[in-house]
Amino acid sequence: MNKIIEKGIETIYRDTNNIFEDTTILVTGGAGFLGSWLCDVLIRKNAKVICLDNFYSGKESNIKHLLDYDNFKFIKHDISQEIFFDEKLDYIFHLASRASPFEFSNYPIQILKANTLGTWIVLGIAKKHNAKLFYTSTSEVYGDPDPKYIPTPETYNGNVDPNGARSCYDEAKRAGEAYVSAYKLQHNLNTRIVRIFNTYGPRIRSGSLYGRVIPNFITQALSDQPITVFGEGNQTRSFTYITDQITGIIKFASTPEARGEVINIGSTNEISILELAKIIHKLTNSNSEIVFKPIPPGDPKRRCPDITKAKKILNWEPKISLEEGLKYMINWVRSKNNEV
Ligand code: UDP
Repeated sequence: MNKIIEKGIETIYRDTNNIFEDTTILVTGGAGFLGSWLCDVLIRKNAKVICLDNFYSGKESNIKHLLDYDNFKFIKHDISQEIFFDEKLDYIFHLASRASPFEFSNYPIQILKANTLGTWIVLGIAKKHNAKLFYTSTSEVYGDPDPKYIPTPETYNGNVDPNGARSCYDEAKRAGEAYVSAYKLQHNLNTRIVRIFNTYGPRIRSGSLYGRVIPNFITQALSDQPITVFGEGNQTRSFTYITDQITGIIKFASTPEARGEVINIGSTNEISILELAKIIHKLTNSNSEIVFKPIPPGDPKRRCPDITKAKKILNWEPKISLEEGLKYMINWVRSKNNEV
């Protein structure tokens, strides 16, 4: 396994407890960026992991190394279709969904289905098995937040256009949350909803058709291609390194006091996209020029979480600075470029 990933998994393992030992856990979207990191840690914690993925955005290469483990099972399946399990499940992590804005215009129906029908299906499974259900929602439920609510607390209800360019994702995740809340209310299901803010790290997809901003900028900078900033680059995001994100998710799933809660997990270091481009340019010693392209419709202007709740209930806050995380990312992209 890649050394940066190996070291990251060890860090997460060390910073989280062992509550999952000998439990059986279903991870939907387990071959994706976040899902595969989660599977790696849970396997290391001696859980029995059943990983589900349809490889729409997940990748076989993310989980290939896990297929040798006796406590790992992979099922190729689309979670918007029903599925049954003979073994008793203790936990379900529902991560399955495409998440890249580039895909919102090409695959809006798949995205809606994974988060509405898919969430309904996993809730049914959780109810039948009396399993704990962990739903991965997103900062996108806040839409384009009113600047008065930056940093954004969980109590902010959002500013979302139901027919906008991002509605298939934003509204699907909002509906997913509503499903989870309904099962909590009506069936007293043990549920948790995490709202994930922009996360990056090894295994995130890159490529002009679906890449997120950090892998795109790094790939462009390392190959001396123009770094494509959308709009004037004054829109902001706060970027969380993968090890911090997965640590937060595992702490959330394993903290009894967090039952039934909705919690933001993300970095509070809000920076503009132009600033990000300049930092990556510098860290890569790139000869790229920074160019400006039209901003995609519906692109939120600012995004930064209020993480008071995560600090209080989970004793969690991010540890990896943006510069440190970007250095890991750059090294990872370089090592991938050197693979034959
Ligand atoms: N972005 C950019 N150039 C790129 C890709 C993205 O300027 O090549 C911008 C995008 O318009 C957005 C921000 O970077 O404002 C973050 O984009 P990303 O797709 O990573 O995630 P989002 O937060 O929009 O879901």
